[in-house]
Amino acid sequence: MDEEILSFIDNHTEDALRDLIHLVRIPSVAAEGGDSMERAAEAVAKMLEAAGMKATIHPTSGASVVTAELDVDAKRTLLFYNHYDVQPAGDLDMWDSPPFEPEIRDGRIYGRGVADNKGDLVSRIWAVRALTESGLDPPVNVRFVVEGEEEISSPHLEEFVRANRDFVSADGGIWEFGGEGLDGRQEAWLGLKGIVYVQLEVRGLSHDAHSSMSCILPSAAYTLVRALDSLKDPEENILIEGFYDDVRPLTEPEREAIAVIDVHEEEMKHHYGIDQFVLGLSGDALKERYYGSPSCNIRGITTGYQGPGSMTVLPAEASAKVDFRLVESQDPETILRLLRKHLDQHGFQNVKIAWSEGYPAAKTPVDHPFVEAVSRATERAFGHRPVIHPTSAGSGPLYLFRGLVPFVSVGCGDYDSRAHSPNESIKIDNFVRSAKRAVFVMDELAKM
Ligand SMILES: [Zn+2]
Repeated sequence: MDEEILSFIDNHTEDALRDLIHLVRIPSVAAEGGDSMERAAEAVAKMLEAAGMKATIHPTSGASVVTAELDVDAKRTLLFYNHYDVQPAGDLDMWDSPPFEPEIRDGRIYGRGVADNKGDLVSRIWAVRALTESGLDPPVNVRFVVEGEEEISSPHLEEFVRANRDFVSADGGIWEFGGEGLDGRQEAWLGLKGIVYVQLEVRGLSHDAHSSMSCILPSAAYTLVRALDSLKDPEENILIEGFYDDVRPLTEPEREAIAVIDVHEEEMKHHYGIDQFVLGLSGDALKERYYGSPSCNIRGITTGYQGPGSMTVLPAEASAKVDFRLVESQDPETILRLLRKHLDQHGFQNVKIAWSEGYPAAKTPVDHPFVEAVSRATERAFGHRPVIHPTSAGSGPLYLFRGLVPFVSVGCGDYDSRAHSPNESIKIDNFVRSAKRAVFVMDELAKM
């Protein structure tokens, strides 16, 4: 079976690239909306149908979710989660070729969305197509969930998952992103951190005052800065009472997994232009913090006058955006409540949480058999086993699928793919191998 399928994939690389180019030409920027979203959903549904699957477009209160199924009455079911929306193109002058007119140069294909996430989507559909056009049934039932709002925090995916719990329940799932690390090795990500983000606002005066009045009038800016300072000490400890109560330490299998990861400390320091990481961390301590610790970050502070020259003002208001990345078992609503309590108890009753959003973390256990299945499939397609990351430090809607499907995230990106940036691209070789890996994942899952 292997040989036939693999040569089908090799022989149809041009067709798959044509599909990818077709999809990238549709500027499905979720942040902008418009009729491109529906056109992209329809194009995806057509590709899924062409691969021999039964596709459905589900309207939601936002962009549609496209699903597809190929039920072959197998014991096991594999679910692919992808998205057809993309980030805005950004500054067009920074692109070497137009973002929505894909171009192939030096073995890479360039265009907005090729890495995040249309390349992955097309490679997976291509894998199914390779089987069905060779007259073979996949060894597992295959399902796709392709949403159109991932880049704007998936606001309507929850309503879809709630209404379709049976459909999204599966024995294994392949999440949207992944690829090759700095050292050329494939990487597999088993989870995503949760997040709480808030907008803090202080209004001190009814209107801006002359700065000379600061000797008798309260300062919104100082109040905000002190409130922010109260959240974390210089040793990076988050000082909100109860914040760490639900944090579980990394498991022994997770420790074993991260022990063999090379995080390329020197390259990373060089990349960010720093001499050292926080607290001077390195080695295991640095990795444990990356994979196992929550964080508190100031995203932005706005207050007063920041234009040229001087303007003697005492600003009436000040605001800041703050985010907390959460690890498994921390509950965003609890964290939000603890934050409010902390502010009140420290005399910051006048610091308002004007706006907040968040969701919990989720991850698949390192020792889950599906992780091994994906590792073996990766070895068969790429010639080596992937680096296993117990979680990514980033966040995403993975939590919606908790308890329904064990997800592993592998994909066709690489260290230089520049998702969300100008000149986004993937290596065509990884695109081809990713399609092969998807076939092998089906095979390994069937044997699991
Ligand atoms: Zn993205």
